Amino acid sequence: MSIGSQQTGLTALRSSNRAVVIQALRRAGEVSRAELSRSTGLSGTTISSLVSELSASGVITETARDDRGSGRTGRPGRLIRLAPTNELVAGIDLAGSEIQLAIADLSGRICAQASTPADIDGAGMEALSRAADLLDRTIVDFDLDRTQMRYVVIGIAGIVDTMDGRVVVSDRMHGWQDFNPAEWFLERTSFATRVENDADLAALGERARGAGRGVMDMVFVKISAGIGAGLVLSGQLYRGRHGAAGEIGHVQAREDGEICSCGNRGCLETIASVNSALQSLRAVHPGARTARDLADLVESGDRAAMRVVADAGLAVGRAIADLCNTLAPEIIVLGGEMTMSPTPLVDAVSSSILRYTRPHIGSRIKVAATTLGTQSCVLGAVELATDSVSSFAD
Ligand SMILES: [Zn+2]
Repeated sequence: MSIGSQQTGLTALRSSNRAVVIQALRRAGEVSRAELSRSTGLSGTTISSLVSELSASGVITETARDDRGSGRTGRPGRLIRLAPTNELVAGIDLAGSEIQLAIADLSGRICAQASTPADIDGAGMEALSRAADLLDRTIVDFDLDRTQMRYVVIGIAGIVDTMDGRVVVSDRMHGWQDFNPAEWFLERTSFATRVENDADLAALGERARGAGRGVMDMVFVKISAGIGAGLVLSGQLYRGRHGAAGEIGHVQAREDGEICSCGNRGCLETIASVNSALQSLRAVHPGARTARDLADLVESGDRAAMRVVADAGLAVGRAIADLCNTLAPEIIVLGGEMTMSPTPLVDAVSSSILRYTRPHIGSRIKVAATTLGTQSCVLGAVELATDSVSSFAD
């Protein structure tokens, strides 16, 4: 190897370590040097040198002394955090029952959040337009600088081709097949935009700030009107070649089941989504219409409600058991409207995974409910946006 190529390699390594440290700081908020070394796996010497460099260039600041552990002995260290930036990013969730927006700076600090009710099903263009209006209005309301907006990431319920940004299929956004929503949003707002699958973004959100914090291998399963999964493998979001990975809602659960929205028969979605749970529940509670109704009944101890949620959980667990045998994740995080009252769901998914996986695999997999509630997608969108802009800067 020549001296020149060795230097190029060292520069690339340093740049990659720098990105790792910035990402770790954005996720952790405030940390000591020792904690940063542990969470990144970089040596104390490397951390020290990178912290000096990042401090000199104003990327990080050192804050008050670390006196969090009052029982500690020895001289307490100072805490490091990313300095607030003027540059901004935005995340938008277009896959829930309302449009959600979060604006953050590049340190990951949330500067503004807003939401607006919207009937998204079948009215995708109107929802996209309202999301653009909400972003414009929130920038003004929170006195933010529009010229500092660097990137917007939007989550939709559908498959988005990672190669060209076009929608492959969406059950909720009718007529969006082959449409490029990111291009439309860029033209409307002038902000660089990327559109992603909602479950993929929710997986990133949970990993950055929720139940999967710091986990390297995770399966996030969203159970709402539809069912989808986001896969984090070796710390990276796994999208598949064209963004279609994680479509577990369309794993066949019953060979002679009902016809699914995708055109196949007996998909998991037809027996374990919130809609199918509500449909079963109406035999006993004809007035049950929403996920909130279902959760209220579960919380009151209603037998029928507990049963339909547990049945949904058993079916989801059965479907993801094969995925667990294949991928051996550390944690399954359950999200979506079915987790409004999560205990019977988590218990049922756990027991099904234990029943249908190889014992030594299943017993090591933790099953947990989202800790971000309905915000996992919008916060994941912010995470991806900040990551994207930070990597542009390198
Ligand atoms: Zn299907």
